[in-house]
Amino acid sequence: MIIEALKSPEKIDTLQKPTGVKPAQLKPTLVRNIELSGEIKNIGPFEISPDTTISRIVNHFGGGAPRSKKIKAVQFGGETGLCLSSADFGLTLEDALRKAGFSGKLTQIAVIPEGVCMVELARDSIASTIDGLCGKCIPCREGTKRVQELLDKLIDGAGEEEDIELLDDLCDTISYTSLCRLGKVSISTVESSMRFFKEEYLSLLKSKSKEIHTSHIKNAENRILKQAQIA
Ligand code: SF4
Repeated sequence: MIIEALKSPEKIDTLQKPTGVKPAQLKPTLVRNIELSGEIKNIGPFEISPDTTISRIVNHFGGGAPRSKKIKAVQFGGETGLCLSSADFGLTLEDALRKAGFSGKLTQIAVIPEGVCMVELARDSIASTIDGLCGKCIPCREGTKRVQELLDKLIDGAGEEEDIELLDDLCDTISYTSLCRLGKVSISTVESSMRFFKEEYLSLLKSKSKEIHTSHIKNAENRILKQAQIA
């Protein structure tokens, strides 16, 4: 509560002026300490109760996205976590976590602004997860590599409809057959972005507009260029 109050002057007023509601009438709330990250004005830890809407979390506590950008989605659990579209920002944190399928202790919410390609976001997420996998079991070790290859294929404008079905099946297999939690959650961003942003996956298929492919191929080229510069 202290951190929230420091970042939100109106909260201090609320705390200092009793509203006349007797303490016994107040519902106990379980406050969580959550780090806001990503493209948002106020990055840092906030104490947030589960009945706070996602809209209030990103716009009031987080201050919204910089440069008047709109917020497109959030990711529960950080940059490799489960996505939820802005269409569901009216849900309370508790309901939003349920809808996204998040279980466990939430410590981080990453904010994704408009303009970010969710397929690229999913590919970057799986790419960063792969290095941390021990490789002991085949579904996780091989499956995650195939997922990354399929996402690269889509981003490069060469994907077919069957690739999206295969992605779906692979994610299910990895999630059900991986031996440990790390393997099971490795495909969280891929699965949830396919669920809430399916149209972005479909728009990248080879059979769709050449224009869209060209822009994604350009992005892929820029990415390779950037990686080469870093190396
Ligand atoms: S599921 Fe766990 S044990 Fe299996 S390869 Fe992945 S990280 Fe290793």
